[in-house]
Amino acid sequence: MAEHGSIFEAMLQEFDGAARLLKLEPGIWKILTHPKRQIIVSCPVQMDNGDIEVFTGYRVQYNITLGPAKGGIRYHPDVSLDEVTALAAWMTWKCAVAHIPFGGAKGGIVCDPTRMSKRELEALTRRYVAEIIDAIGPEKDVPAPDVNTNDQIMAWVMDTYSMHVGHTSTAVVTGKPLELGGSLGRREATGRGVMIVTREAARHLGFDIKGAAIAIQGFGNVGSVSADLLARLGAKIVAVTDWKGGTYNAQGLDLGRLLDHAREHATVDGFPGGEPLTNEQLFALEVDVLIPAALENQITMDNAPAVRAKVVTEGANGPTTPDAHKLLHERGIFVIPDILANSGGVTTSYFEWVQDRYGYFWEEDEVNTRLEKKMCEAFDDVLQTSLKYKVDLRTSAYIVAISRVGTVTKMRGMYA
Ligand code: NAD
Repeated sequence: MAEHGSIFEAMLQEFDGAARLLKLEPGIWKILTHPKRQIIVSCPVQMDNGDIEVFTGYRVQYNITLGPAKGGIRYHPDVSLDEVTALAAWMTWKCAVAHIPFGGAKGGIVCDPTRMSKRELEALTRRYVAEIIDAIGPEKDVPAPDVNTNDQIMAWVMDTYSMHVGHTSTAVVTGKPLELGGSLGRREATGRGVMIVTREAARHLGFDIKGAAIAIQGFGNVGSVSADLLARLGAKIVAVTDWKGGTYNAQGLDLGRLLDHAREHATVDGFPGGEPLTNEQLFALEVDVLIPAALENQITMDNAPAVRAKVVTEGANGPTTPDAHKLLHERGIFVIPDILANSGGVTTSYFEWVQDRYGYFWEEDEVNTRLEKKMCEAFDDVLQTSLKYKVDLRTSAYIVAISRVGTVTKMRGMYA
């Protein structure tokens, strides 16, 4: 999230701003700015050509004060300990804002999954899980999918863990296929959460979500589900971009046709129902809501002065750089921060874990109703805190998170 340098340092900057306002005790401050456990493993894998490669893997359990550590596993060539630690810290704050009984973790393997066969990916996943086996488990640390990992990889995580402990353990991982203990509603959960907080922001700011113009960067899981659910509330999705290009229609895009086009061509680019559009044009549109739902570091000092939306809902993790965020706030733009806006995913992962542990599965309506309640409560907690401290919503989300984790840290006391 930092424009240069360490991502963990950028996280600490955000943390420090909120901790100062909260007058956090120095001892608790120290504890909450250190990762509890950082694991580095080497994973040898025999590749399809017979060669042996050794991949570096990480698992960071940043904080487990509120419950088992929770966070995804990322497969990417740029994975580093600094990045994984920052992401594990953000998971800690996200779970605390969402008010679910989890700590924060993240894992990653330095690899390029686009150049690996399915068999190589399976071998790598199983060896990585075997290397961290003592540190994970339903009561300890519960992984999930992240960049370049999916439900098949979670199935291998679950199977490897189960083979080691000698019984089927579905609750060791979330984001699994439905057939092996996944939850209904999980696939749509992040986009559903984005829809709910955007709707609540419109209500708070006094504009009607029905007829509101919305622009979305990214048309993957988060972007496409957010678009669909907001359109069902009567909002007009006027612009969408993705890795290849974009499309704009001031009257509102026909989402059914756009989804078909994206499925067929693997991009929204070239959609016949709209005009071509670049990311830069998308960010500068005069819309009610802008939803970055693609990558980190998209709204920067280069394009933030051009943003004209009333609301920015951060569907992606870290889409706005710290300087750009400050500028948007000063310009009166209502930014719903990632640790609140995209917390619908981890909240429903919590529901998946609960269902696995019960061995009793809910109807989709029940999952969605519970998610609606949790997201509205989280939005309200962050909004009320921002009004009380007269700060932006990102700072207030940190205040909510730090005070929850800090209070429990103090109650539990020091063990030495
Ligand atoms: P995804 O891979 O399904 O979709 C990503 C989308 O971004 C694709 O449409 C892709 O074309 C687009 N994209 C890639 N590069 C782009 C570029 N340069 N310009 C414009 N668009 C570009 O991923 P996702 O699951 O939708 O995740 C999106 C973001 O949301 C990520 O930051 C992720 O960490 C975050 N997030 C996802 C979840 C979840 O449950 N899926 C939960 C929390 C946060």
